[in-house]
Amino acid sequence: MTPGGVNSPVRAFSAVGGTPRFIRSARGAWLSDVDGNDYVDLICSWGPMLLGHAHPDVQAAIAEAVSRGTSYGTPTEAEVELAEEIVARTPVDRVRFVSSGTEATMSAIRLARGFTGRDLVIKFAGCYHGHVDALLASAGSGLATLGVPGTPGVSASTAGETIVLPYNDREAITRAFAEHGSRIACLITEATPGNMGVVPPTAGFNAFLAQTCRDHGALFISDEVMTGFRATREGGWGLDGAVEGWRPDLMTFGKVMGGGFPAAAFGGRRDVMSRLSPEGPVYQAGTLSGNPIATTAGLATLRLATDDVYSHIDAVATTIKQAAGDALSAAGVPHAVQAAGTMFSVFFAEGPVRDFADASAQDTAAYAAFFHAMLDAGVYLPPSAYEAWFLSAAHDDRAVQTVLDALPGAARAAAAASSEGR
Ligand SMILES: *Cc1c(COP(=O)(O)O)cnc(C)c1O
Repeated sequence: MTPGGVNSPVRAFSAVGGTPRFIRSARGAWLSDVDGNDYVDLICSWGPMLLGHAHPDVQAAIAEAVSRGTSYGTPTEAEVELAEEIVARTPVDRVRFVSSGTEATMSAIRLARGFTGRDLVIKFAGCYHGHVDALLASAGSGLATLGVPGTPGVSASTAGETIVLPYNDREAITRAFAEHGSRIACLITEATPGNMGVVPPTAGFNAFLAQTCRDHGALFISDEVMTGFRATREGGWGLDGAVEGWRPDLMTFGKVMGGGFPAAAFGGRRDVMSRLSPEGPVYQAGTLSGNPIATTAGLATLRLATDDVYSHIDAVATTIKQAAGDALSAAGVPHAVQAAGTMFSVFFAEGPVRDFADASAQDTAAYAAFFHAMLDAGVYLPPSAYEAWFLSAAHDDRAVQTVLDALPGAARAAAAASSEGR
């Protein structure tokens, strides 16, 4: 009925083989499928469910909001309160709500182009910013050259306005700005990449990006759709900018701040955000933007996302990282566990993984065997070796123990698949 049987490609298990599970319900750290199987959830809806599924206080807030109607197309109090919560945790002065992370990055880029009067965009290979045409570009031939379409359907002219560079490579950035500096509207990066697995920036890398942009009159856009309110209370920015004393010009948010609903946002410097319609000339709009149910769910989630939540997730992450590393070492499977705040992933390759080329050296057959052995043992991992593993405040001792019990067998399955491949 729908292409590939799914409404977003990674759900289809193409990278690991087998049949996707149809989930009927979820509670706390657990997913239940239509066949009556339960799984410890290590994807958490790909990030959003920071508090776990069906948190009673979030459910109650949603139910109360629904009782007052579901959409008005007018300003509401909840959206102002959610904006205040975001401004309190991040360095943005002002925010505009949209309905998906894709819309947030697309709008941020339009605003950057409108503000600077320039066209070119820089992004990094392996960073994902949603399915925005301009950001589905691949590197052209040679460094600092203009991009080519990353998928059929993206025009050569659109991709040709994007420069795709290797992550963590300062020289490539310096060269791109030297060559195209006066035409570059913005550089967009994940605050700490999580969409090729977790690849932390080298020390000072984001500060370097911010400074290089400033030197050339370009805007620095930090995409925190995944890391925002998850990597730390202040997102990925909490790991560097908050400590080092700099801030991005624009930021994008989604996932956790929607509390499991389609809500996202972009925000940033007051002078840049005031260029947005209706205050300024850069057009941007949305029928369901700031939807009252979505903003209520996001607000309830952020208000419950206290320091205790982050320290709990941190502790659980430490336990699982250690156990996964130990199990893979014992089975002789090359791997690298990398983390940024509470976010982490397990690469099936020797580390360190510094960029997309390193991440691409993974043994995906070993991961597929590992994934299915974990699934059979009741643990739902991301069905791709290129994804972060997500935890929540609801991952309690029973959930963690289920993961720990599953790891040694899965590591042996990975070892067997890896030697078959050789
Ligand atoms: C998920 C994600 C997006 C896209 O968000 P959607 O809501 O899926 O459109 C953008 N940027 C990053 C860093 C993401 O992780």
